[in-house]
Amino acid sequence: MSNPQHHPRYETLADFAAGRLDEARAVVIAAHAEVCEQCARDIDALEAIGGGVLANAEPAAMSADALEKTLAMTGAQIMPAQADERPRPASALDAYLGGRSIDALNWKWVAPGVHQHVMKAQGYRDGVLRLVKFAPGKGVPVHTHKGEELTLLMRGAYRDALGEWRAGDIADLDHEHTHEPIAFGDEPCVCLIATSAPLEFKTVLGKVLQPFVEL
Ligand SMILES: [Zn+2]
Repeated sequence: MSNPQHHPRYETLADFAAGRLDEARAVVIAAHAEVCEQCARDIDALEAIGGGVLANAEPAAMSADALEKTLAMTGAQIMPAQADERPRPASALDAYLGGRSIDALNWKWVAPGVHQHVMKAQGYRDGVLRLVKFAPGKGVPVHTHKGEELTLLMRGAYRDALGEWRAGDIADLDHEHTHEPIAFGDEPCVCLIATSAPLEFKTVLGKVLQPFVEL
């Protein structure tokens, strides 16, 4: 177990525990929880709270919609089916890689020093999951996000305006963040990235590349 310094936002963990994330982001959170004891514990606690709300309700003594109203007040939702379908640690990313190691993937060229492997999430609520590999000194052109972007560092390290990120770390970003991560160190930086909407590039190069590379 590594010792990640950057974790998902609490709301993201709560959404994961409640089965509200799209599959792509759920895979990233599950993969982080595999290497982060702290987040694994938080998810267990959040799941216990969610289960407790339902277990303690007394439907027989309530009107038909009382439970829904109660949950609405707490911000919770009844989604038992989705909760059961959530990717679980250990099987989460393996299912997408089909048993291949990261080195054996069919990496596609994106830009000098940058390659990616795109995986369409095919479970509930979809999303796009990709592995991006940058050589030291290379990065993704500066961009913000129309939707949510969750990044798990698998190997190597990168830095951006927000700090330094290493294996096991999560960057949990939304449309308020603009960033330009650059890999550093001796080995390529490999990131697992889930996006719920296309990236919004700020530079001409990024805008020109976008349709061709599915970024
Ligand atoms: Zn964590």
